[in-house]
Amino acid sequence: MGIGAAFAVLAGLLHAGGAAQGPNNRAQETVINAIKAEGLRSSEAPVLFHTLTDVFGARLTGSPAHLEAARWALERFRRWGLQNPQLEPFEFGRGWELEKLTVEMIAPRYMPLIGYAEAWSPPTAGVLTGAPIYIGDSTAIDIARLDERLRGAIVLTHRQQTEFLRTDRMQPSDGNGPVQTGNPPLPGPSSATPALEMLTRLKAHAAGVALRPGAMEHGTVRVQGNRDTARNEVPSVVLAAEHYNMLVRLVQAGVPVQLRIEVGARFYENDRNSYNVLAEIPGADPVLRDEVVLVGAHLDSWHTATGATDNADGVTAVMEAMRILASVNARPRRTIRVALWAGE
Ligand SMILES: [Zn+2]
Repeated sequence: MGIGAAFAVLAGLLHAGGAAQGPNNRAQETVINAIKAEGLRSSEAPVLFHTLTDVFGARLTGSPAHLEAARWALERFRRWGLQNPQLEPFEFGRGWELEKLTVEMIAPRYMPLIGYAEAWSPPTAGVLTGAPIYIGDSTAIDIARLDERLRGAIVLTHRQQTEFLRTDRMQPSDGNGPVQTGNPPLPGPSSATPALEMLTRLKAHAAGVALRPGAMEHGTVRVQGNRDTARNEVPSVVLAAEHYNMLVRLVQAGVPVQLRIEVGARFYENDRNSYNVLAEIPGADPVLRDEVVLVGAHLDSWHTATGATDNADGVTAVMEAMRILASVNARPRRTIRVALWAGE
């Protein structure tokens, strides 16, 4: 997180905020110099970024960690003298928090596996230990035949992952053509029975936990989740593709594999709201102050990491920009409002 990012935000804000023109050029220059001095000599960007990533860590929308981070940001806005600081509620759904995760191979040898529970996965019924059942090549009828064998079982639901996500989304700097927004297409895991039907069957047979491969390589696991996952769904863990593929190879070779899996998770259902953090520097121009320059970044992250670049860096840039503007007592003509969104 360079201070350059905060300055880029500030340059945009000053322009859009309509800093004074013409005869007031000197006043404008004074403000700009004060901004540069504050940002370069007294930057709080490193400590803001450290607090978001190292102290709060993952900030899944609806989780206690997200709410704590939101309250912390609100308190900072207050302390910096921003106006109308508030948590703006919106209905999101229930919260979820991972409390424990064990993903281990204990035979034919001991090996901790790289994996992560999907967000909003129900917890497992305690520690599950046993031989995994591979159903990646099973038809729906094959799965139905397994019947009681599936109860409480550890299930390898998909085939080995052979296609990987290897390119980042297109960047504006890649060319002058239109840039597609959103994520690049993710190679999904493959299975003989369509995923939805398979999960329905696993649920009907009360499987213990479903394991599937991720689409990244080299031990990176891309895991998200669905906040509408029902409590009685089968708990779900995504493994690093290399580890998942190894398990499938072992099972297919007839090697007796034993796994030990535990997902500890808690749902938060009392407050179905999540919260955006808002604050502003009111516009000084009586005509223009009803016009709002909105500067935002999403405070929430996924549960599997600290969200350093998704989006703690963006949050740091806009928080630092607001802090600098407040500390140099900038008087923009239009209102500048900061919004740290939840639920990206
Ligand atoms: Zn994001």
